[in-house]
Amino acid sequence: MPDLVLTSFWRCDREYRKHFASTSDGSVVYHAYVRGLDAHCTCPGWQYHQKCRHVDELFREACMWNEHWNSMGLQVMSGPGGGNEELVCPNCGGRVASFADAV
Ligand SMILES: [Zn+2]
Ligand SMILES: [Zn+2]
Repeated sequence: MPDLVLTSFWRCDREYRKHFASTSDGSVVYHAYVRGLDAHCTCPGWQYHQKCRHVDELFREACMWNEHWNSMGLQVMSGPGGGNEELVCPNCGGRVASFADAV
């Protein structure tokens, strides 16, 4: 158990995108995006406050698994044909990424 590993952890890297029609103008569509801890939306609320109900909704749906918050361990899946082994999220089966703790 090398200590160095503790400075980084794995988190789900699954990407979530969703389109929302504006409630005031149905021809306007906002594009919301969530991936890991990154989030973005094209609506005015996000531009001004970096917060909006579109991103909130995506975050509610998103897996957001991370090694620190969840006791489920990483799963190792063999690639197609038993080739390269791939680490996947134990919660949703999506991709995972190593996230470095800025300490
Ligand atoms: Zn938005
Ligand atoms: Zn996941």
